[in-house]
Amino acid sequence: MSMRAVVVDSAGQISVAERPDPVLPGPDGAIVEVTASGICGSDLHFLEGHYPIVDPVALGHEAVGIVVEIGSEVAGFAAGDRVLVSSVAGCGRCPGCATHDPIRCVSGPQIFGSGALGGAQADLLAVPAADFQLLALPDGIDTDQALLLTDNLATGWAAAKRADIPIGGTVAVIGLGAVGMCALQSAFALGAATIFAVDPVEARRARAAARGAVPVSPPSGQPVREFTDGLGADSVIDAVGTDASINDALDTVRTGGTVSIVGVHDLQPYPLPVLACLIRSLTIRLTTAPVQQTWPELIPLLQDGRLDVSGIFTTTMPLDAAAAGYAAAMSRSGEHLKIRLQP
Ligand SMILES: [Zn+2]
Ligand SMILES: [Zn+2]
Repeated sequence: MSMRAVVVDSAGQISVAERPDPVLPGPDGAIVEVTASGICGSDLHFLEGHYPIVDPVALGHEAVGIVVEIGSEVAGFAAGDRVLVSSVAGCGRCPGCATHDPIRCVSGPQIFGSGALGGAQADLLAVPAADFQLLALPDGIDTDQALLLTDNLATGWAAAKRADIPIGGTVAVIGLGAVGMCALQSAFALGAATIFAVDPVEARRARAAARGAVPVSPPSGQPVREFTDGLGADSVIDAVGTDASINDALDTVRTGGTVSIVGVHDLQPYPLPVLACLIRSLTIRLTTAPVQQTWPELIPLLQDGRLDVSGIFTTTMPLDAAAAGYAAAMSRSGEHLKIRLQP
């Protein structure tokens, strides 16, 4: 049997390819029939040639679906269960995974859709250590919220939690894609009073302004200092992860403040101005979301309406239209913020 999978080949071309059906990845694994998947900003690195591609890569790490096959050692799930899948996978058995942060897995965490594990933009996804990676779809959580819980909301939430946001403080969020919008809503939930929403695209700034943020065109340093009596922002969240956005973040944060970076950089080193950061006593944090660890915090906030992530998914396309979906994502327009692919 074969299935469809979105694949990027060595030339950076996107196609929907026939692939053999995945097999159970061991007795602790499961096969999930994907009912919806998201295109993530980090997927674009493969297509835009920032990472070397040796073999074609099956893309996608955000999946919601139905369990169709289950290994004999899986305790918490059965065929037919509706689930979401953490974008980051751990072994589920080690002291690192015991913290519910797959990044700490002592065997090394893996991310779906980046080579070793299968891609979520497909009909079927093989999930190792299913008891650790899967979550039964919680009551009152819709498909878009569930997809955001696999990655972007966990990332935005972690970015905000690690930004040392003072209650009543000022925050700048650089980059108003899906992660940036999740970070913005998280920062408000964590007590920020004023949030500067920084993006070159007017429609993206307008979307953030509609959520109560102050829209700012990059570079953000000078306008944010003007708003803050010359101080700069208490906390800056960088949801872009380029040299330019990090420079902007360092210029926008106040002396003694925190820069929290979750945008995914390319493979090149970044020339950190160490002396200036030292003299200004900056805290700089870089974070991959501890996805499973965020669920007990985020799910009640979503269920009770304390965290509003509506409107982040702007576009739904069939899986077969993945090439058009990626073209829309790469346009980074105001219209297409987050794209959902439907097998
Ligand atoms: Zn991602
Ligand atoms: Zn582990």
